[in-house]
Amino acid sequence: MSFEKLNLIEPIKRSLAEEGYVIPTPIQEQAIPYILKGRDILGCSQTGTGKTAAFAVPILQMLYQQRLDGEARQLPRALILSPTRELTIQINESFNTYGKYTGLKCAAFFGGIKINSQMQGFSKGIDVVVATPGRLSDMMNQGIINLENIQILVLDEADKMFDLGFAQNLNMVLQAVPKEIQTLFFSASMPPDMAQFASNILTLPVRIDVAPGTFNAPKIKQAVYFVRQEDKTNLLLHLIDEEEIESAIIFINDKKEADKLVTIFNQRGIRARALHGKKSQFNREDALKKLKEKKLQILVSTDVLSRGIDIDLLSHVINYDLPREPETYLHRIGRTGRAGANGFALSFCNKNEMRMLAKIEELNDFRIPVIANHPFITNEHYTDVQKPKKNKQKVPEEEAPMLPTFTNVEYEEPEEDDSKLKRRRIIKKDQTLISQTGRKKAEKPNK
Ligand code: AMP
Repeated sequence: MSFEKLNLIEPIKRSLAEEGYVIPTPIQEQAIPYILKGRDILGCSQTGTGKTAAFAVPILQMLYQQRLDGEARQLPRALILSPTRELTIQINESFNTYGKYTGLKCAAFFGGIKINSQMQGFSKGIDVVVATPGRLSDMMNQGIINLENIQILVLDEADKMFDLGFAQNLNMVLQAVPKEIQTLFFSASMPPDMAQFASNILTLPVRIDVAPGTFNAPKIKQAVYFVRQEDKTNLLLHLIDEEEIESAIIFINDKKEADKLVTIFNQRGIRARALHGKKSQFNREDALKKLKEKKLQILVSTDVLSRGIDIDLLSHVINYDLPREPETYLHRIGRTGRAGANGFALSFCNKNEMRMLAKIEELNDFRIPVIANHPFITNEHYTDVQKPKKNKQKVPEEEAPMLPTFTNVEYEEPEEDDSKLKRRRIIKKDQTLISQTGRKKAEKPNK
C-alpha cells in the first residue's frame, strides 16, 4: 500500500515524499483513515513504529481543511500531551516537518525554559500545541493558554504520563477542553487502571494494536536528474566519485549496455558486475551473494532483480534508465532503505523518458525532486515547451510535455483543486523564471 490510498492532501503528500516516506507503516495504515473520519482511537503502540505521523498527518490534514481566517485561528485547535521534554520536542518537530507546506503553526511547551521565550513568535496564534502536562498546567494556572477551541486531543505514551505522576494534571486539562472532542489515546501498555481511564474519556474508540518491531516502511530519498542519454555514464561516474555510494544496484533496460557499464567500472577499479537474463544462474546467484557480502560495490542489473530481493544496507538504487512500466519503479527503489536504514533512489531521465517520469509520478501520486546542480544538466527537456513549432497541433492536456521541476525553487501555495500532475511549479533556469505560461504557450496552436 502506498500513501496514495490514504487520500492525503497535496501539501502533506509533498512533505512525506521529501522525507522519503513511500509506504505507510502498519499503524499509519490502520489509524489514519479512522482519524480522518473523526473517530476516537485507543492505540497500543510504541515510539519507533511511525506512531507520530499516524496522528500528526491526519490532524494536520483536518486542521488545514478547515481553512479558518482571522481571529478563529488564534486559539489552538489540537493539543498533544507527551510525558517528556525530549518526546515533546520530537513530536513538535514532526508536526513542523509534515506540515511545512500547510502554513499551520505548531509549538512545543515543556519545563526548564521560560514560558515567555517559548511563546515568542506565536503572537498570531498557534494551531497545534505539543506540551508536557506539567508545563501546560502552569500555563493554564497563569491564564496564558486558552483551550476552549481544542477539537482534537492526543495523549501520547499515556502510561508513562501516569507513571510520572501526571494524572492530576491530565484531569485538569480534560476539564479545560470542550466535552465533545476527538481523543486519540496511545499507550505502550494497558493495565486495568489505564484501560478504565481510557474508557472514561473515549467514545466508541477504534482499537489499534501494533507490536514493537513492526516498523517495515523504507525511508527512501528520491531524486531525478535530467540528463542526455549520451551523458548518463559520465553522470554516473561523477556520482560515484562525489557521493558516498557504499553499495548500489544500477537498473538499466538493456543487457548489452549493462555489460558495457561493468567494463567501464572495472577499468576504473570499481568492483562491479552485471546481472541479467543472459547470465547463467550460477553467475547471477554468485553476483548477488557478493553484493550482499559487500565484496561488490555495484551490481548493474535489468529488472530481473527489481522484485523482492532483500539486501541489507544497500545504500543506493540508481535508475540509469527509467523502467518500461511505471509500477516497476516502486519495486526497484524498494531494494534500498530496508530494515529501517536510509536509502537513496536516484533516477536518470532523458528527454524521451519524461512521459514515463510523469506516469511514475502519477501512479505514486507524488513528485520526485529534481537535482538541478549537476555538471550534465541540460535544457532540452523543456525546449518544446518554450518554443512552440509553427502549425503545431493543440496538445491534449494529458499528453502535453511536462515542465521539469527543480529542488531549489519555491513551490506555489497549494490550491483547493490539485488535480493530478497539474504542474504548478516555477522553474528556475539561468536566473530566468519560467512559469506555467511557458506551457500555456506550447499548448496554443500557432496560427
Ligand atoms: P515514530 O514511531 O513516530 O517515532 O517514528 C519512527 C521513525 O520512523 C522516525 O524516524 C520517522 O521519521 C520514521 N517514519 C515514520 N513513518 C515512516 C514511513 N511511512 N516511512 C519511512 N519512515 C517513517
